[in-house]
Amino acid sequence: MIIVTRPDATEAQIERIVSRIQSWGLKAEVSRGAMRVVIGVIGPEDKIREKPLGAFPGVESVTPVLKPYKLVAYEFRGMPSKVNIGNVTVGEKELVIMAGPCSVESEDQIASIAKAISKAGAKILRGGAFKPRTSPYSFQGLGKVGLQLLAEARKLTGMPIITEVMDTKDLELVAAYADCLQIGARNMQNFSLLREVGRTNLPVMLKRGMSATIKDLLMSAEYILSEGNFQVLLCERGIRTFETMTRNTLDLNAVPVLKSETHLPIVVDPTHGVGVKQFIPTMALAAVAAGADSIMIEVHNAPELAKSDGEQSLLPEEFKDLVPRIRAVADAVGRELC
Ligand code: PEP
Ligand code: MN
Repeated sequence: MIIVTRPDATEAQIERIVSRIQSWGLKAEVSRGAMRVVIGVIGPEDKIREKPLGAFPGVESVTPVLKPYKLVAYEFRGMPSKVNIGNVTVGEKELVIMAGPCSVESEDQIASIAKAISKAGAKILRGGAFKPRTSPYSFQGLGKVGLQLLAEARKLTGMPIITEVMDTKDLELVAAYADCLQIGARNMQNFSLLREVGRTNLPVMLKRGMSATIKDLLMSAEYILSEGNFQVLLCERGIRTFETMTRNTLDLNAVPVLKSETHLPIVVDPTHGVGVKQFIPTMALAAVAAGADSIMIEVHNAPELAKSDGEQSLLPEEFKDLVPRIRAVADAVGRELC
């Protein structure tokens, strides 16, 4: 249920609404806009429905969220959310670039890539230590050592790190190193994992499953928010279609659709979405034009030696050439590069 206050509602009236809601054993999520305050009421629906929420002084309207997703629905906050990853904020006017290798492979590899991308304009370092591979015989990631190497690269460059957690059993370990947890496409509907990351106080980037609808993605995000963690980013990373000329089909429709359906910031990953190096820069620009709040790009200093996704990784120089083009498109659509 959503309470919208009147423009002339006083701070005391707002506080009264919030404390009364809490005294009923419900939760209140307060979002402050320029004119109005939106208070999302969280708890069992039948319990909320029996409360006379419209009776509080200062209330303009009380509306139920009719969508199947409630906490992620745009109207629940009535304004876009911001997500803080270390010292970087995603969801503001500034577009944020996340970059790094698919997998962390060695100290030299991650340090050299991290330095190059940071200098070129990346603000968040990505790199997998636990890798979800299609084949059990492929490189599965360095695990804890990979996390330690990421932490060293963070120290070296000052960039916060995002890395995937694949299993609830690894969550404590990954959370001890990561500034943002990544839930991979293959785990988008691993509901026990979603609930567990929802109980942490770390930001979470949830990637869209390759066969998931936009609604499925939103319902999965709802699991995380329902545990109390509102620091969630949604990531479009391409879906499976009948097309075979690219690895996946980057569904840029998802960006404006998600922007109208949810308050959560949107990340686009053109690297996995396209999978063919040659076309990734163009789709990165298209993602910015479509309204993405952040883009994630895989970069490798020796792609021919990469243990995963070398064929879709940009060289640091190619990434460096792409950044000013991203800046130009960001400017054209009223954004700035962070
Ligand atoms: C990745 O980011 O390296 C990755 C494995 O992504 P996805 O889960 O989208 O396939
Ligand atoms: Mn990858």
